[in-house]
Amino acid sequence: MLTDVTTLSSPAFNGRQTGTTDDADSAKWVTDRFLASGLSLATVRVDPTSPVRQGRGYMTAAVTVPKIAPNPVLHISTAGDSLPHQLGTDYLPILDSPSAAVRGPIVFVGYGIVDRDQGIDDYDGVDTTNAIVLFLRGKPTHYKGTISHADKVRFARQRGALGYLTATGPVLSSYEGRRGVTGQPGAFYGLSLPSETLPGAWISTTLAEQILAAPDHAQLHRLHGLQENLNRSPAAQSVNTGRYGSLAWQTRTEEGILMNVLAFLPGSDSQKAHEVLVIGAHRDHFGQQAGLLFPGADDNASGTAVMLEVARAISKAGAQGKRAILFISFSGEEQGLIGSRLYLERPIAPIGSTKAMINIDHAGIGNGRLTIGVTGLEKELVLEAGQAVGLTEKLDVFGFFPGGDHVPFKEAGVPTVTVVSSGAHPHFHQPTDNPDTINKDILLVAARYVLALAWALAGDR
Ligand SMILES: [Zn+2]
Repeated sequence: MLTDVTTLSSPAFNGRQTGTTDDADSAKWVTDRFLASGLSLATVRVDPTSPVRQGRGYMTAAVTVPKIAPNPVLHISTAGDSLPHQLGTDYLPILDSPSAAVRGPIVFVGYGIVDRDQGIDDYDGVDTTNAIVLFLRGKPTHYKGTISHADKVRFARQRGALGYLTATGPVLSSYEGRRGVTGQPGAFYGLSLPSETLPGAWISTTLAEQILAAPDHAQLHRLHGLQENLNRSPAAQSVNTGRYGSLAWQTRTEEGILMNVLAFLPGSDSQKAHEVLVIGAHRDHFGQQAGLLFPGADDNASGTAVMLEVARAISKAGAQGKRAILFISFSGEEQGLIGSRLYLERPIAPIGSTKAMINIDHAGIGNGRLTIGVTGLEKELVLEAGQAVGLTEKLDVFGFFPGGDHVPFKEAGVPTVTVVSSGAHPHFHQPTDNPDTINKDILLVAARYVLALAWALAGDR
């Protein structure tokens, strides 16, 4: 598995960005691995709108491929000084934001939320016409419902902003703490509609604190206080920072082909063989952006390697579940779960006959335990599978795990189990997500567990 992780995150696959030739090359590599393990490729329905003739095993769709050209510039200044900062560590353009050539005053607008029903207008009290707005990621603790990054960009544009900066606030949620969120910018697609987008960059918490502090850096804790106020009440905490920002970069977009790879092990039981257990892991990552390579070892060469190992183990053992098992190497996860949504539009077996979906994502680093997110299944079943391989003590079982290729399956009513390694993932969406950070013992724990769970779900359960 470690060899597979190293291969997939090597420069040969260039970060496996969805829709690029690296996507296709890595799909071919995964296909060869499935075939070498003795699996067959699944028969998929041909999409008449796709420009590619689809082979057995490949499910494809046309996608847009955004790329930020090397050396994007972010400049932040006041009358006297300018704040030093570095690409990658302190700022990174939002990967699908348009080309930028803008300059304006930086105005802090809280979480950047406008929601009359909840009495929130984070733009209250400031003029953001021709400004660069700075908003925090996420939402205040009292906010009900969901708010997306694209929603916030739309509000910024409606309020006349020319561009935006976004940062993780210094006050972390317990979930962010557990996951080792560092406050550094990460690779991220904003997923705004073309008519609602603006040039924008993710900046570090430290840089956001410096922007909010007075020019003499006397108030470095000011952002912390503002975020605490925002979490306490819906009142706006907007403020003109007195600094100017300029954003300058080129975004190129190409048309490309997304490739999911589907391999199949038939079931043996005449009553149950028509039912399918799906085991999936996304293969795509962010490729090369702004001159930086995002290798994606933990995210998600690790899950891909675990899935391949489970497929190999079952197949080489000559074992056959009562139900069929479908292995899917998804692309398009980072760009908004495109590959898994595509599968649900064109499933190879009826959704009603899909027993469950196991998703493996980020399974290569952490504290040696596994985080298991469960929907639509008894938690006892998930724990029992751990018992069979002596791993019960290493499982942290939760309900729904937010984000990932299991989400469209859950929305379609399929029970889901998400397998993620527990503990900090400090290289999440960073150029430092390298194979030398991967722990082979954690891969092994994940593979043993998924194998046991798959055997239970493809069998009598
Ligand atoms: Zn990711």
